[in-house]
Amino acid sequence: MKMSQLYAPTLKEDPADAELASHRLMLRAGMIRKQAAGLYSYLPLAWRSLRKIEDIVRDEMDAAGAQELLMPIMVDAEVWHESGRYNAYGPELMRFSDRHEREFVLGPTHEETVVDLIKNELRSYKQLPVNLYQIQDKFRDEMRPRFGLMRGREFIMKDGYSFNATQESLQETYDAMKQAYANICERCGIKALPVVADSGQIGGDTSVEFMALADAGEAALVYCDDCGYAADDEAASTRIAVTEGPGDGTLTKVHTPGLGSIADVAAFFEFPENGTRKSLALFDAEGKPVVAIVPGDHELNECKADHAFGEGWRMMTDEELEQVGLFKGFIGPVNLPEGVRLVCDVSLKDSKQWACGANEIDYHYTGACPGRDFEADAWEDLVTVVAGDPCPRCGKPLAGARGIEVSQVFQLGTKYSAAMGATFADENGVEKPFLMGCYGVGVSRTLAASVEQHHDEHGIIWPVSIAPFEVSVIPLDPGKEPCQSACDAIVEALCDAGIEVVVDDRSERPGVKFADNDLMGFPYQIVLGKRGLANGTVELKDRATGEREDVAIDEVASKVAALVIPQRA
Ligand code: ATP
Ligand code: MG
Repeated sequence: MKMSQLYAPTLKEDPADAELASHRLMLRAGMIRKQAAGLYSYLPLAWRSLRKIEDIVRDEMDAAGAQELLMPIMVDAEVWHESGRYNAYGPELMRFSDRHEREFVLGPTHEETVVDLIKNELRSYKQLPVNLYQIQDKFRDEMRPRFGLMRGREFIMKDGYSFNATQESLQETYDAMKQAYANICERCGIKALPVVADSGQIGGDTSVEFMALADAGEAALVYCDDCGYAADDEAASTRIAVTEGPGDGTLTKVHTPGLGSIADVAAFFEFPENGTRKSLALFDAEGKPVVAIVPGDHELNECKADHAFGEGWRMMTDEELEQVGLFKGFIGPVNLPEGVRLVCDVSLKDSKQWACGANEIDYHYTGACPGRDFEADAWEDLVTVVAGDPCPRCGKPLAGARGIEVSQVFQLGTKYSAAMGATFADENGVEKPFLMGCYGVGVSRTLAASVEQHHDEHGIIWPVSIAPFEVSVIPLDPGKEPCQSACDAIVEALCDAGIEVVVDDRSERPGVKFADNDLMGFPYQIVLGKRGLANGTVELKDRATGEREDVAIDEVASKVAALVIPQRA
């Protein structure tokens, strides 16, 4: 490919509205262009990389026994009514009518479509398991489409669905998909953690999200380097290590005028915030007053609070506090007003000496002891786990990171098959709804996640496995001898070796060429300069390390081939 003919309009300046490196660099490198909010064209460089990601995905799916098909993007709304999701999915679902006023949707995911497809034709346990997948544009009218390909309204997804007769069979398919997804990340050069999104009753996981580690990630994660545990901070549960508060273990009321914050109280007692107790007043989903108590240095987690207090719980306003008989900054577990439920974080259960509000203006208690000075109505998992908290599996301190969800595997069970009446006959001829799994890879998001992980101040640094081209050849005097002949010979040798090469044949200044090639991020660059050519050498640059070395003209192609081929996915 000649750079002079490549359609890759580069930008010199950073686009104003691109916050993320991946968004900014793919725009600047002429890889993507916005059509409207959340809608992008993939230009030739991006499309080459996307096809490589798709090929890796196909390869892993096929190896794991899944079969590729293609279903329509436009789906009769009827099946969405059948599953009950037409109303439940909300405004993200793109809905429209055809000329006959029949309702349709643009598929944001295809559980309904695939169940409708196999229903009445996949009939017997003897035909199972079946695992079907497609790679296709998906549509979600996201509330905030942003960050370029990261959160689009139209995006490329590999979506797969398995139909299994038994839980053991579903587990087998699910485990195979989980392994395939780990392989996909690795082969695409993505560092990712498999994060348990949902735990099954029997202790195993029933859903895992693969999170590409990146500072720009939307999800806050904790993980353990020691045992491999990883979780979203919403889902992570552990018994936070808590220190006892100050004092000698007797309940002591202390005058703490004006000290209404955890920081103030900790400073006053000259104690770590972890040794204090944070009390929060709220109304549960039924409108009943609750005081929730967590370790002073941790936050109440909204997701866990939904579980504990029901969706629809809310913090009390200052006026409501007063009406209930509580005092802002001085709330605690001892002598709570009648009718206020006390719910404490489970990590505090064995702690016997709490520093906490005294339910009296300008007073705190030290040495408050559960069971002796107050009774909790419930002990619940309430707090957001943070880096440094003990790993729930092995107890070592957890590390914190941010992640981008690139893919997810999920055991659906009979949710869709039961709702839509999709059944098979088991060994005894009994009709049963299929057990299903669903498995999604964000193909276009994976491309963006890769750029988040692989870039520097000059541009993108593609892993060989998904690079649009593997090497660029940069003649500094194109059309002139001996530069042109050397260039032709090198390109021919590279093509013969099966290497994907782009030649920067433009008559631009060297600085412009270097900048563009760095921006586009080809893994290797071969620079043909006057001085080297006079000695029969060219310069080989490794984009990732920045290392350069002089290599003989007739050896450079085989050298590059030896570097590139083992790194292909
Ligand atoms: P998110 O929580 O980020 O909205 P999701 O959990 O709703 O994603 P899934 O339904 O699990 O997404 O879809 C499978 C995969 O598709 C995701 O893991 C992600 O990689 C990708 N994906 C989902 N929504 C988008 C989007 N708006 N733009 C690009 N990729 C997306
Ligand atoms: Mg998901």
